[in-house]
Amino acid sequence: MSECIFCMIANGTIPTKALLEDDLILAFDDIAPQGPVHSLIIPRQHFDNLGDGVPGEVLEAIFAAVPRVAKIKGIDESGYRVIINNGPDAAQSVGHLHVHVIGGSPMQHGMVRFSDSDEGVAR
Ligand code: 5GP
Ligand code: ZN
Repeated sequence: MSECIFCMIANGTIPTKALLEDDLILAFDDIAPQGPVHSLIIPRQHFDNLGDGVPGEVLEAIFAAVPRVAKIKGIDESGYRVIINNGPDAAQSVGHLHVHVIGGSPMQHGMVRFSDSDEGVAR
């Protein structure tokens, strides 16, 4: 997985300012933030997505990091959205499991927009 950009971030080939890290996970800010706060949490080990046999302890480490990242970013009280784009129909663009933590300003209700509909609702 030497060409995986998030593996390169996880192993230090691409220097990245970590928000939080331990043996299992690494959190850092998204390079193209879609909100005032947009951070990512990744497992250090490569998994394509949630369907890639991710061990429970890795899932636990990822999700335990979510509120900690929110607190570090100062959005634990105001709230935030947690998103995993999983596979092609979800428009996953980096094939290394990652969790988005997005917040810092109020969002509209609803989170799904389909690309084959003007209204963004699947038919
Ligand atoms: P996806 O669309 O796969 O759910 O999300 C991938 C995310 O990774 C995108 O929000 C994108 O901006 C972010 N990203 C892609 N390459 C890099 C990078 O080299 N550094 C950082 N920090 N974020 C990246
Ligand atoms: Zn990877």
